[in-house]
Formats: sequence, C-alpha cells, structure tokens
Amino acid sequence: MLRPDPQDPWLPRLAGYEARRVPAYRAAKDYVCPACHNTISAGIGHVVVWPVEWVEDRRHWHLHCWRTATRRGRLA
Ligand SMILES: [Zn+2]
Repeated sequence: MLRPDPQDPWLPRLAGYEARRVPAYRAAKDYVCPACHNTISAGIGHVVVWPVEWVEDRRHWHLHCWRTATRRGRLA
C-alpha cells in the first residue's frame, strides 16, 4: 500500500494532483500508463498520480509521461 512518503523534490508536480514515486522494488504488477497506453511492467519504477480531491482515482504513469504532462501543465 501507499505510505505517506515525504515529498520528493525531484518529482515534477502538477497543480491539483498528488504524485509519488513507486520504486522498482514496490512495483509488483503490470499497469497501463494512461498517457501512452503502454504497459508499465512489474519491477519498473514509475509514478502513481491521483487528483487531490479524489484519492481513489489513482493512476500509474511512466515517469517520462508524467514529466511530459507536468511540462504541458495538464494531464492530456
Ligand atoms: Zn506512459
């Protein structure tokens, strides 16, 4: 389960969303990245993102896809 990790200063942020790194050792299963629709395989470090006001809507993102979204200033 997610623990309340300390804020990671190197992880790009987007207003209205929380983001946390999922390190490789905690990436126990495959996910589909909502940005590129490609698989994030188990054992690959990535990012979990959720709306500040809707924690149930967690999505697993590739780090590079999340970085692109934060540069763009919106999810898609
Ligand atoms: Zn992706």
